[in-house]
This record gives sequence, C-alpha cells and structure tokens, in this order.
Amino acid sequence: MSDTFYGSDFGALDAFDPEIAAVLVGELERLRGGLQLIASENMSSPEVLTALGSTLSNKYAEGYPGRRYYGGCVEVDKAETLAIERCKSLFDADHANVQPHSGASANQAVYGAFMSPGDTILAMSLPHGGHLTHGTKVSFSGKWFNAVHYGVDKDTEDIDYDQVAALAKEHRPKVILAGGSAIPRLIDFEFFRNLADEIGAIFWVDAAHFIGLVAGKAIPSPVPYADVVSFTTHKVLRGPRSGAIVCKEEHKAAIDKAVFPMMQGGPQMHTIAAKAVNFKECATPEYQAYATQVIANAKVLAEALGERGIRPTTGGTDTHLSLHDLQPVLVTGVDAEARCDAAGITLNKNAIPFDPQKPNIASGIRVGTPCVTTQGMGEAEMRTIADLIARAVTEGDADPDHAVSKAVRAEVTDLVTRFPAYPR
Ligand SMILES: *Cc1c(COP(=O)(O)O)cnc(C)c1O
Repeated sequence: MSDTFYGSDFGALDAFDPEIAAVLVGELERLRGGLQLIASENMSSPEVLTALGSTLSNKYAEGYPGRRYYGGCVEVDKAETLAIERCKSLFDADHANVQPHSGASANQAVYGAFMSPGDTILAMSLPHGGHLTHGTKVSFSGKWFNAVHYGVDKDTEDIDYDQVAALAKEHRPKVILAGGSAIPRLIDFEFFRNLADEIGAIFWVDAAHFIGLVAGKAIPSPVPYADVVSFTTHKVLRGPRSGAIVCKEEHKAAIDKAVFPMMQGGPQMHTIAAKAVNFKECATPEYQAYATQVIANAKVLAEALGERGIRPTTGGTDTHLSLHDLQPVLVTGVDAEARCDAAGITLNKNAIPFDPQKPNIASGIRVGTPCVTTQGMGEAEMRTIADLIARAVTEGDADPDHAVSKAVRAEVTDLVTRFPAYPR
C-alpha cells in the first residue's frame, strides 16, 4: 500500500518548508512532553491522521452520496456512505449527517433546520456550563435568536430541573437544548423529552463533550430521547477535528438541507473519511474499555483533587471531566492555569457556577481524562496527577524556573516517559 498511496510525506514538507515542518514537530514534542488535561481534547490515531492527510482533501463533492453537483465522486461517495452507515450503527440512529465542519457548524445547521430568526430557544447558560453557540450574545445564536437560559441549582451545582420546567412553560420555546461544555454529571434526557412533548418543542442534545462516552457504551445515550443530537468528533470520541448530527427519520430532510446548502458549501471529504475510520474504531471492544476507563480515571482525579482542597463542583463527576473550585485554596483560575503550564501540565481555567470572578480570571479549573487515558494511564496515575496539580497550584509559580515548577515538571516528565503520547 505504501508505494501506491500518495499522501503525507513529512520528508518532502521538511525539505520545502522547514518552518512549518518545525511547527509540526514542535507540536508533537509538546504533546509528548507534558500532561494534557484539557477536557475537550484527545489524541486521534495514526489511522485517522492518515485519512486526514490524503488527496481526498482535493475533491469537491457538494451534495450527498449519489446526488452530487460535481463529477468524479465515485471514491468519496464510498467514504461518505461508510461514514454515514457506521455512524448510524454506532449510535443506533435513524439518520446521520457527517458533513458538519465542526461542532459550531453542526449547531448552526440545527438552528437552520428548526428555527427562524427571532424564535425562542431554551438552553443552559454559558457561565453555568453551556456553550457559546447556545444563545450567547457574542454568537450568531444569541444575535439572531431569542435565547432563554437555565442554570444549575445553588446547592447541588447540577442542572436546576425545576427552573428548566418553569422557563419552558413561561416562554414556550420552539427548541429545548440540553448539553454543554462544563457539565460533570449525567443529564436526565427523559425529563427533557417529556417536557418538550408537554409544550410541543423540539428536543435537541448537544453531545459534543460526552458523545465518545456514549459511543463506548459507558453512559446512557441521548439518541432514543432527542429529536436531534449534534456533536463534535474530536473530543472523547477521538476522531478528526469535525462535527456530525444524528436525528429521527422525520427530521432527515430538514437536517440535510440545513447542513447543505443552507450553512455549508463543499464537504471536507478527507475529514469525512477520517470520521469513517474513527466510527469503526469506536465500535471495537478496545474503545469501549477506553471509554469506561476515561470515567473511572475522571472520578479518581476529581476525588483526589478534592482531598487536596481543590473542591470538585457537584461533589465529583459521572463523565470524563470535573470542574474544580479553587476558592478554598485562595488561588484564581488564571493563576492556576499559568502555574500548571509552567510545570508541564496543560489545563484550562474555567468559571464555576455563581463565580464571583470575571470569566477571564475565573475561580475554577476544568480537568479531563481523555488524553491521559489514551496514553494508557489508570487510577494510580490519576492520584499522582492530582498531587502534581495540587503542588503546582498551591505552592508553584508561573515562572518555569521556580523550584516547584521544576520539581513538578520533572515528575511530569517521568510520567509521560512511562506513558508516552504517540510512542516512537
Ligand atoms: C466543543 C463544543 C462545541 C463546538 O465545537 P467546535 O468544533 O469547537 O466548533 C459545541 N458545543 C459544545 C457543547 C461543545 O463542547
């Protein structure tokens, strides 16, 4: 195969454009050299990366398999058909659209399919764990649609279901949206389905963060409950940077028309081929074991950080991520992020519910286990990581030459040497 396949050729790139070649190597070394705890990131396989770096990137294929606006689509049609069939089978869905370029593009298409400008959507607020595309003022979603937001309960820090029901009855939204970017707990899909039925709304789940756990059968699926489920393919799922939508048969035409031609032009056929590879990977027993381990690791990491005073909101997690309140240790999110960065630990500051700080300072951090689990780490390593984070956050410094930064970084190096990313 290697002599007939013309695709990624690092040597040729390095000879022609050493500046960009150096960036590719530098980024690989960055991934290998530190701990990646950003909850929305993962490390896709060489097989996925090979499909991404292929000549399928060249092909114009506006339309859908068998119904294209361009000739020469015989091979890319096969790729998209495989991606659609594998996606439907993985999630037991009536219909799949694998063309969205990203999670935000997938969401745009869902708005396009079900809403007109000015219509009302009920969604989780960004500061309580939602997403920019769920009706924030800086996004198209908040500029063109009337967004009403629910949040979390002050005591449980989990979704305030009473508030969701009250707002739905008061505002009668056309669409009710569940899902977000910083929700550590499982979502009660049945509750949302019943509520949507009661008021005649569409029930949409944005599963961008947790769809990989669903694919790996580690948590319950929203697919039987929701009219439509949008998601990204590059988070826990571990595919290429992209998006997809699955929906009930009755919404098939509306979704397909909203993705193309309403919101997008030509599909990225190399990415669609990579999604097909990823969906095949997700159907394996190895991926299911991975998804289960991601959650086991996240639970241990959340608990161990809590034991060190870095309190997990909601008391822990059911998923791949936890959100931590740094107020007990008197450190801000922005400082914690910088101190961890100096120690070789990549994570992000995050607003916590009812955060007294501005979003660019924040009182919390968000940590996730998709990457470290891909590297083969287990519960014992999570306890070590919690200890390293706690030392960096509470005793460390944003200066990489500070003694604590250096000491923690040395232990990070030891860990990532034993559990390498992209082993050589
Ligand atoms: C990540 C995310 C998105 C956006 O995905 P992009 O690929 O970055 O556009 C949308 N919704 C949720 C809930 C997300 O977490």
